[in-house]
Amino acid sequence: MKFIDEYRDPKAAEGFARAIRRITTKPWTIMEVCGGQTHAIVRFGVDELLPAGVTLVHGPGCPVCVTPVELIEKAIEIAAIPNVIFCSFGDMLRVPGTSKDLLSVKAQGGDIRIVYSPLDALKIARETPDRQVVFFAVGFETTAPANAMAVYQAHRQGISNFSLLVSHVLVPPAMEAILSAPSNLVQGFLAAGHVCAVMGYSEYEPISRKYHVPIVVTGFEPLDILQGIFMTIRQLEEGRAEVENQYTRAVMRDGNRPAQKLIRDVFEVVPRKWRGVGEIPASGLGLKPEYATFDAEQRFGVAHRIVEESTECISGAVLRGGKKPHECPAFGVACTPEHPLGATMVSTEGACAAYYRYRRIKLKSTPERSGV
Ligand code: SF4
Repeated sequence: MKFIDEYRDPKAAEGFARAIRRITTKPWTIMEVCGGQTHAIVRFGVDELLPAGVTLVHGPGCPVCVTPVELIEKAIEIAAIPNVIFCSFGDMLRVPGTSKDLLSVKAQGGDIRIVYSPLDALKIARETPDRQVVFFAVGFETTAPANAMAVYQAHRQGISNFSLLVSHVLVPPAMEAILSAPSNLVQGFLAAGHVCAVMGYSEYEPISRKYHVPIVVTGFEPLDILQGIFMTIRQLEEGRAEVENQYTRAVMRDGNRPAQKLIRDVFEVVPRKWRGVGEIPASGLGLKPEYATFDAEQRFGVAHRIVEESTECISGAVLRGGKKPHECPAFGVACTPEHPLGATMVSTEGACAAYYRYRRIKLKSTPERSGV
């Protein structure tokens, strides 16, 4: 298939692996930011092609995984209101709250609908003016333009029964939080190509300079990732710290300016809690005051709920690159995709789900690789 098969060619992958082995003289720890990259790495065994001293750690770039339990509880509370139609991407329905998930609210009669776009939810609002329609607006910069567009259109068309439960997060502040932690071991980043397709990559340049860390904008297929790792290690070995772009077929330095303008028009930067990590200043998007009437937290009076995270799940350490999923005592025992304890076991982009799906049998039968 065009644009897929050529990026999964085993011979080319071996060529990149040889090139990486040739230039690597020291151990390096590199974080892939995005959960989509984590899945490709684990699924295709990209990490197993690398020299023993090169460690890939998995980053916080799975939007489902980083949505705090507090937001899940708010979603559950709103979805249980009789007049509400609660719309969400499918992954969110099985993310555990403190005692239940959205799927169990649906089983108890809540009108919860899986949609593929916030514009689908807006259409439902337009067609059912006697009901309140709420869209669970989860995601990084990639999903922000569509969510901004839904609010913008609702505003223009006077659709007053539509609102967003917003849980938008931003990548650069999370990278800074990781780099500035005293325990940080990350020496280079593979930045998420799709986020950069929207935002460009100039905002990573000050981070690269400040922390002297290479950042390579990278795609999602095995050869993309291998080339991104090669470019990162080449910088590390040469003592350089720059932003480079591996994903040139999709990303330009300035990104998608109309999409950025739409985000800026509707959203403002706010502090945001990350599941398992805590609050990171200026790390999220919230609706601007002029669009506050579309804020579901305000509309349903749930804005000030505070909920503590479970201590059983160590997904915070997994999302910061401090632990590998199989180092969690609950992995594959108390926590499975059928009975997840944390969001990283639920999401299709979650690191725990990737290890469970592609590595569980192997991890049981071979000695564990050491973590970071
Ligand atoms: S295996 Fe389960 S409990 Fe452990 S970190 Fe992953 S999601 Fe959390």
